[in-house]
Order: sequence, then structure tokens, then C-alpha cells
Amino acid sequence: MPHTPFQTLPQVSSDFFRFLLITFFYIIPINCLFKMSQYDSISVERRWQKMWKEEEIYRFDPDSDKPAYSIDNPPRYTSGSLHLGHATGYSLIDFAARYKRMKGYNVFFPLCFDVNGTPIEVKVEKKHNITKLDLPREEYRKLCSEYANGFIDEMTHHFEILGESMDPSIYYQTDAPYYRRITQMSFVELFNRGLVYKGDFPVNWCPRCMTALADAEVDHKDNTTKLNFVKFAIAGSDSHVMIATTRPELICTCKVVAVHPDDKEKQHLVGKDLITPVYGRRIKVIADPKVDPGYGTGNVMICTIGDKDDLEWVMKYHLEMEKGIDETGKMTEIAGKYAGMPVKEAREAIIRDLKETGALVRQEEVPQQVSVCWRCSMPVEYLQVPQWFLKTIELKEQVLGKADEIKWYPEFMKIRLQDWINSLEWDWVLSRQRIFATPIPVWECDGCGEAVCATEEQCYVDPTSDTPPVDKCRKCGGKLIGCTDVFDTWMDSSGSSLYNTFWKRDEDLHKKFFPMSMRPQSHDIIRTWAFYSILRSGQIKQSRPWDDIMIHGFIMAPDGTPMHSSVGNVIDPIPILENYGADALRYFAASCSLGTDHAFREQDVTRGKKLSNKIFNIGQFVGRFFDGKPVAAGELRESDRWIISRYSQTVKAATGYLDVYQFDRALKEVEGFIWHDLADNYIEMVKARSDPAVRYTLYNVFLGSIKMMAPFMPHVTEDVYQEHFAAFEGAKSIHISDWPAPIFVDEEAIGIGNSITEITSAIRAWKSEKKMPLNAELSKVEIIGEGAPALEKGAPDIIETSKIKELIFLKKAELKEEVTAIKPIHSKLGPAFKGQAKSIVLALSALSPKDALKMMTKDGLELEVDGEKITLAQEFWETQKRLTLDGKAVETIQLGNTLIVVEI
Ligand SMILES: [Zn+2]
Ligand SMILES: [Zn+2]
Repeated sequence: MPHTPFQTLPQVSSDFFRFLLITFFYIIPINCLFKMSQYDSISVERRWQKMWKEEEIYRFDPDSDKPAYSIDNPPRYTSGSLHLGHATGYSLIDFAARYKRMKGYNVFFPLCFDVNGTPIEVKVEKKHNITKLDLPREEYRKLCSEYANGFIDEMTHHFEILGESMDPSIYYQTDAPYYRRITQMSFVELFNRGLVYKGDFPVNWCPRCMTALADAEVDHKDNTTKLNFVKFAIAGSDSHVMIATTRPELICTCKVVAVHPDDKEKQHLVGKDLITPVYGRRIKVIADPKVDPGYGTGNVMICTIGDKDDLEWVMKYHLEMEKGIDETGKMTEIAGKYAGMPVKEAREAIIRDLKETGALVRQEEVPQQVSVCWRCSMPVEYLQVPQWFLKTIELKEQVLGKADEIKWYPEFMKIRLQDWINSLEWDWVLSRQRIFATPIPVWECDGCGEAVCATEEQCYVDPTSDTPPVDKCRKCGGKLIGCTDVFDTWMDSSGSSLYNTFWKRDEDLHKKFFPMSMRPQSHDIIRTWAFYSILRSGQIKQSRPWDDIMIHGFIMAPDGTPMHSSVGNVIDPIPILENYGADALRYFAASCSLGTDHAFREQDVTRGKKLSNKIFNIGQFVGRFFDGKPVAAGELRESDRWIISRYSQTVKAATGYLDVYQFDRALKEVEGFIWHDLADNYIEMVKARSDPAVRYTLYNVFLGSIKMMAPFMPHVTEDVYQEHFAAFEGAKSIHISDWPAPIFVDEEAIGIGNSITEITSAIRAWKSEKKMPLNAELSKVEIIGEGAPALEKGAPDIIETSKIKELIFLKKAELKEEVTAIKPIHSKLGPAFKGQAKSIVLALSALSPKDALKMMTKDGLELEVDGEKITLAQEFWETQKRLTLDGKAVETIQLGNTLIVVEI
């Protein structure tokens, strides 16, 4: 645990050591000493991770009187591997949790996992080469559960080595009966209030997963396909109408052909009968404004399955629904000779037949957007399958209203939700024909179809194995059969704000903690997780689920393109964590502003690593300034007032940014302060001091600095805190210590302090340019300028830092320029004067600067060479000058309006 604190050493040796150290610093610049200490990030990180866990530093206390800050943490999907997007996203959430904890909140930040749904089923089916139909439900569910739960220990370990402050005492996973129970109870309430219905409605259907999909689960892929031009004979005539279709296999369900009402050439067709090829069915031609007269032939075949447009027409014209494709993606009896064939095979077969009979005139390659299943990429069909729905469309306004009550970070992300809500056309399809999810707690009568919902007390319940609340149908006395459908996985996850606030578990706690403080999530699931959560909270609680929502972007490959295992550009964060440490990776995460996608920048991780080293090394140096908590400041110098003011400004700015989740800006403020103001300038200035004022200042300013850095870099700050501060402050961990407050802001001191640091660093640069040792003593320095006398307060700091014997501040001073010598330019004299050049050089060197001045004319220098008077033009010689002040030679350093004059 804590290192042996230096301050426990006997007083004498401590003082002696400080004496040695100060002496040492006179000789060796501080940066050299910094390099001598090695910060071993990995062992340090593991040590504090262990301590945090053992001491339950992040434990939430439901009975605490402190204000609560509750985070609706995204349960991590149990897919196993940790990718860079997770590492970044969860780091951002952790920054908020740690900040609020230090601000005195009782922080609710659960460790949680999402163990549900089709992706796990798909993986299990691949692994065992089975489908859901090959095993009894119970066995299938067991395989999925074992597979998913097998990842949890490893994934928990990932969170730990990332330095996440999630609380295992409020752990949950979404497949547990205690969680499924809450999902079911909320359904029971919605069912009893008439918000749930079973509808015979067309749904997006994945033939591979054999389940209905919500609109949000349908992806779109660009593809090319064949547009087939097929002849439909006009009944009772020899002529025909040409139909262009990409899906000739659907001719079996073709009900009407439509043309645009303004298409003059086609008006004569409206009302006529056509005969479908292959099937010989009579169908009508109608006029409909939704027809695109520019696509294909302008004649549209409308089938009772097909795409969403077809379905709109089916509804509009009350066409009889015929099911040409079944749930497994095969043609039905209606397709005649193609029955039983998969869709693609049937398409190829009918194209062959149409060619043979001459009905297929030609084919064209056309681009096409295919709707595919988001999980398995299989093309989605629109099928008429009985499903459970939750009323959504009639609640659009309510959800929009609740979304307005939530503070969005960043604000522009709200538009994505609004656009999504406004585009919704159907109610939420709640049911899935899958297995590894929460069962829908309903039984249906085999006689009349009446649905009987479970009672609240029955939940958690599995209707495929448990008995219904009544033994027969209330309406007809028929037998009740358990529903085999399960919930869409979003039904589980969108109840997290209810589960997290003890809904139906402890009403007092629920009142205390609902709505939650904050929902963090990525932008791709606004239309699902955020939307469904707000919808259900509105339905069940008539309230918003949280006060704030914080939305982060994706992490892209270094070139800005998405990371995909198929492209081979996925960056594994585990080796980064092992090479650089979690603090360094978290530094990168903190540099990612909310709401936008960011390319991964390894140089930021390196920068983070350097910063953690720097903090550690400043700790090594600064810690030795205090052997107890300094209580009295004594008389503060101007440099002390300056650093305290700059520190106080930094606290104000960083706190303001953290309050609105602008982690990147908060980090920039604190980092800039630590590197530049504190390390480069203040510490450089006070190396030689040991008075109470410097001890007080360093103690408070550095302690506050590591506290502000603690949410971002929890390990190195804990390490420094434990070594140098914990004993005086009394907190078990920096992460449950108090957030720092500004001390004072003295604007005048900031102005003077900035000038002092500018002057001392200019002198430092000048010395190193002159190859002088940095501790070389300067006999006299004058600071000259209008504002110079005001800087006099900073004299002791400048004198000590720059090693000056005499320092003077003046508004004005008379600098003189003196010629010290006349030098020949040999390269020009030789070629021009040949043999005489040597005599000219001699004559020049014999001149005193005083004489030379007398002999200068506008044409040149009048010289006597070998008894002859010549005027030597200026291109052949140069003057050497020097500056003097009060007759003494000086050098100058210009610094804005101020001139630093150094006597040499
Ligand atoms: Zn699928
Ligand atoms: Zn019945």
C-alpha cells in the first residue's frame, strides 16, 4: 500500500536531505533529475487496482444522505474481446463517475453485462453447427448462456486494468431472472394498460435468424441486380404491357399493375385486365400517384409481399394478403412449381422459364439497395407474421417532449433522435422468434386466440414451461398455450433505468433515485437504446429516465476509416494497456471530444505516458518540500501569488468543463497548468527556496493539480497522493477525497508573474545560447520599459532564479552604440587591390576606432596607404560595434516592450 512516507523519517535527516537536495539542484537542472526516477506504470497500476477493489473504494451506499449521481451504464455486450471503442467509451463514463465522486456525490456506477440475444445465438449456432430448431429450447438456452457467461470474468478483468471505477456491489447481467423479471413486470403493466397488442402486420423478417426485426435492426447495402423486362398479355387482345421487375419470383402474388395518373400514353390501360405470365391470373391495371413513371417501363407490378412500397399499396387497395415466401425464406405453395425453393433459386428458375416462353424480353443491370439483417446480413423479407407490438406511433409527441426535458451532451445529438422519431411509421415489434432472451409472459387460447398475461407476482416466468395464472380461457374455456416468442433485446436494455433505481424492488429507494442522473452511450444507438428507454420511461413513469445524456463517437483507425476485422485494421487495446499503462490510454480517451468520431492517435498515448511520468517526478521533487501539512503560508512572494492565482483559474475552468462533460477541454487546462506554469516555471523558480510560503504554495497547488488529474489518470495520481498527501489529508484514496476549490485570483499577481516567468525564461535561453551554465552568476541586469518599475515586486524571484547580483528596474535608459574595431573584408580586398591589399589591411588594423570615425565620409574611409591617399569604399570593410550602458558593455534581450540589459 502506501510507500514509506518520507515524512516519517526523523526530523534531522529530513532536513539534512532537503539541504542536500537543494545543493544538488543548484548544480543539476531539475529535468535531469526527473529523468533519474523511473515510473513503472504497470506495477503501480496493478497495486492500486488491487487496493481499490479490496477496500471497496467505489461502493455505492443506497442509504447515504449525500446527493446521488447515478449512471445508467451501458451493460457491456458479452462478446469477449475489448476493442478500442469500448476502452474509450467506458473511460469517458469513468471520468464523469470519478469527478462526481470527488464532488461529494454518492455515485451509482454499476458493473453490468448484457447477456442476451441473437448475436450470441448466431455465434453458438456457428460454433456447434446447429440451428435453433435442432435442440430443445432449454438445451439451446443453456449453450448460449454458457457461451456468453464464459466471457464475463475476462471482461471484468478488462474493466479493472482500464482503471474503471464500476461498483461490483450493484452488479447485474441482463439474462439473470432478477433482471428478466423487471422486463416482464413492465410488460405486464403495459399489457394491462392496453399499450400492447398482437397484430397480423407485415414485419421485417430475417429468414436466417427466423425472427422479426425492428426497423432499427435493418441495415441497407448497395448492390447491383438484374432488372427483368417481362411481357404481361392484355386480356382479349394480342398486345401486351411490359413490366420491369427485379423480383420475378413474386409474380405468383402479383395483384395489380399500377401506372402514374399523369402518364398520358398509359391512360388507355387503366381498368384493363392483364394476364400474368407462368400463372395465367387476371389482374387489373390501376392509376396511382406513387408510381415513378421514370423507373423501368413506368408500369409497376404490385405484389402482396415484396418491399415496403408494395405493402403500402396492399394496405391502400385492401388487396388480399398472399404469402409467397415463408419464414425460412422459401417459396410457398402459391409459387406453384417453385414451391420449396429458396428465394434466389426460385428467381433463377422463373427467369429460365420466362426466357423459354419468350415472355422475358431483356435484362438490364441496375443498382439496388437491399435491406439486410444487421446481425447476419441476410436480405430481409417483408412478411405477414403475427407479432406482439408496443404502441409507439401514437406516443411520438410524448417521447419528443421527454427528449426536450433531457440535457443532451452535445446538444446537436438530439436532432438524431428527433429525426428518427419523425420518420417512424410502425409500432415497435416487441416479439422475436428466438430463444436466448426474455420470454414474453403470455399464454394464448388455442380456441379463440384470447391472450392471458402473467400476473406481476408470477414474474419471472417462462410460459413455455410454467403454468398460466388461470387454467383455461376465460372467453371460451379453451386450452391456454404458452407463448414461445421472446422480447426484442432492446426491451430488456431499455428498462435499465427502472432496474437501476430499484423499481418494483424497493419503492422508497426508487423514489429517491428515479430519474437517474445520466445516460452515457454511443451515437449509433440513439434510435434504439435512447429512444426505447425514453419511450418506456414515459409509458411507465410519465417521466424522463435521466436528467442528462452524454453521447460519444466511434474510434476509427489512424487513417480515419472504420476499423473492421475484414479490413485487418483493428487495433487491440490490450497490448497498448500493457505497454503504456491505462493512464496513458485514458489520456487518449480524454482527448476525444463528445459526439464526434476520432481516429486513434498513438502519439496521444505516448503523450499520456510522458505526462504520467512527469506527474510522478514532480511528486518526487515536490513531496520533499513538506514534512507535514503546511498550515500557515507566511508571507507569499509574487511568484507564489502568481501560481496560486493561475491554479485557482485552472480549478475554475476545469470544474466548469467537467460539469458539462467537456473532458477534452478540462484535461487541456489541467495539463497545460501542470507542464508549463507549475513544472517549467514555478518549480524552476523555487528550487532554491524552503520558506513556509513556498511549502504552503507547492503543497496546495500540487495537491489540487493531481486531484484535477485524478479522474483522467487515476493510477499515477493515487500513487503520488498516497506517497505525499494521504497521511495529511486522511482520505483512504484520492478518488474519494474532496475536489479542489480555487484559493484566490489576484489579477495583478498574474500580470507580474507572467512577466517574471517570461524574463527568467528569456535569460535562461540567453545563457544557454551563450553556452553559459544555467547557474552562472550575472553581475548586473537592468529591466527597462514603461512597465518595468511595476515588476519590482518580483525582484527576489528573478534574482534567485536567474542568479543576478544586482537587478534594476527602469522606465528608460540611454544605451550607446560604440565602434570597437574596423575589420577588413579579405575576400573583396584581394581581388580588387591585388598586391596593394596587404598594405590596406595593415593600414586598417593600425586605425583606432576613434580615428576611424573621423576619417569616414559618405564615400568611404579615407586612408593613407603606402604614402598614397585613397578612399576605401564601404564594401571592403565593416565596423564592429558594442552596446554600452553608463560606459559598460552590455548585451540586450528584447521581450515585447521590455528590454533586458545584461552587463558583460
Ligand atoms: Zn439475420
Ligand atoms: Zn378462448
